[in-house]
Amino acid sequence: MPEHIPIDAFDLRVLPAGQKMRVLLDAFPTLSGGVQLPALIVTGAKAGPVLLAVAAVHGNEYEGQEAVRAIFARLDPETLSGVYCAIPVCNVFAYEARSRATPPHLDGLNLARVFPGSAGGSPTQRLAHHLMRMVVRNVGADDLFVDFHSGSEEMNYLPLIGYRDIASASRAASEEAARHFGGAMLWLVDDGVGMFNAETSRLGIPTVGTETTGQAGCRPADVAIFTEGLLNLLRFKGMLPGGPPPRADAVPCRGVSVVATGTGFLRLTHRLGAVVQAGEVLGEIIDLFGDQLQELHAPHGGTIWMQRTCPATRAGEVACILGVPGSE
Ligand SMILES: [Zn+2]
Repeated sequence: MPEHIPIDAFDLRVLPAGQKMRVLLDAFPTLSGGVQLPALIVTGAKAGPVLLAVAAVHGNEYEGQEAVRAIFARLDPETLSGVYCAIPVCNVFAYEARSRATPPHLDGLNLARVFPGSAGGSPTQRLAHHLMRMVVRNVGADDLFVDFHSGSEEMNYLPLIGYRDIASASRAASEEAARHFGGAMLWLVDDGVGMFNAETSRLGIPTVGTETTGQAGCRPADVAIFTEGLLNLLRFKGMLPGGPPPRADAVPCRGVSVVATGTGFLRLTHRLGAVVQAGEVLGEIIDLFGDQLQELHAPHGGTIWMQRTCPATRAGEVACILGVPGSE
């Protein structure tokens, strides 16, 4: 049986060295018995930094969950320096409901929009509050926080490793970590209010985050990229023997969205990952008779990072996202 620890007292640095632990973090009581978050912990035999990885802030994103479990299974406390801790599921309400956000009968909120949360708020706001405090308590300036995300049911991403474009003490450390992840394109992510990895970045906690296929699935190839990336981050932090992994020197890209102006049926002309020139046609939106409502063009040259997979598209929805090197 896993040990229970109150999440507000959870301190990785007081745990005994050289152990593998499965812990349930008690967060707050509910009518159905209380919110408990699973934690997988490996404390190294030697001292070192903390790497704390979280997955399923959106409940139907699965690749990160498998990656953090794969690393837990693989790590040997004897050869680890520091502490690896993973929370495979953050939004337990949404995971249970197999949905992106918390189900409507609880509050319907997207956990990734409500950080740093509120102790007296609704269930999702309370969850954010306890998660945020737990990360702030355990992840310092020499440590690393990893927030695993994947595309939604209607959106398909290339593997991306991102860090936030937020002027804070941890920006350089976050960028350097992202450059050592490997296997994914470098993404300079705009600030975002209420997002877990934006709020930790703002507080000076070195932070990286991911995207990949998603679609409420779990492709082995994506799990392999996340698992290898997490291993690379452990090596980068000096937590595993063997020296740091290679550094990516590429210019990081920003995401530039191509938005539907009309509601209709989306036809896209390229494959995910295609490299396109500025002005190139990316697709069109047609009405029910097949007549064109909008032709979609690339505003800049870049790589197609994300595409809608559901053709039914509403005005204002993103049809695709281009990764554009160094764009403003
Ligand atoms: Zn997500």
